[in-house]
Amino acid sequence: MLAAIKQWWNVVVGLVYPANCAVCKQPREPEADSALCPSCRRQMRPIHRPFCERCSLPFDGVADGAFRCSNCADKNYYFHHAVCGCRLTGVARECVHQFKYQHALWIGPELAELMIAAARERIEWPKVDMVVPVPLFPSRQRERGFNQAEWLARRLVRALPAPLCKGNLRRVRETDNQALLNAAERIENVRGAFAVRDPRPFLKRRLVLVDDVFTTGATTNECARVLLDAGAESVIVLTVGRG
Ligand SMILES: [Zn+2]
Ligand SMILES: [Zn+2]
Repeated sequence: MLAAIKQWWNVVVGLVYPANCAVCKQPREPEADSALCPSCRRQMRPIHRPFCERCSLPFDGVADGAFRCSNCADKNYYFHHAVCGCRLTGVARECVHQFKYQHALWIGPELAELMIAAARERIEWPKVDMVVPVPLFPSRQRERGFNQAEWLARRLVRALPAPLCKGNLRRVRETDNQALLNAAERIENVRGAFAVRDPRPFLKRRLVLVDDVFTTGATTNECARVLLDAGAESVIVLTVGRG
């Protein structure tokens, strides 16, 4: 009986995950509930202390207590702080890329898990009123087939319940790919790119803003500015990767 269940489960897992590891393409353990082989999984680097208390930048050394990195010293963020699941290097970078641009949804749970673990550790969830994904411009979303931030946010609220508010924060114009721009260009690129349709749902709400990656924080900061403008009480940024 047990063997039959196991066999049936392997069939289900096999339908969800391709036979080979998403990154190194070596055969995956068929019964493993993961899109990656154990070796690639081990190369994911979750962010642990010490990291910058504002932007989650990991610090390779010893730091006593809370510390703020030199990038953040002169920055004025509208969000309270950013929480990120893992370093966006190697395997994690490849996974995010495939998930986002190649619609490799079977890698999504792996990425969401890293983000959710960081949220459990660093966000006081009873004080979260609402989860808001960073929106895509409609034509971009049609082209991509889905909004990766919304996909992650849906997964998040299943693990850490909170109302998910999508569609109210909107991207009102198309922007260039942030990855191809420098820090100053990124800020300029997203300036005025977001708007709130109806401010009432956000009024005095403590929000968690979800995106796939945090690099300079230009996109999430612009969203946070618009959300606070609409009357939100606070915004915490939550992402899978810290670039
Ligand atoms: Zn692998
Ligand atoms: Zn920082």
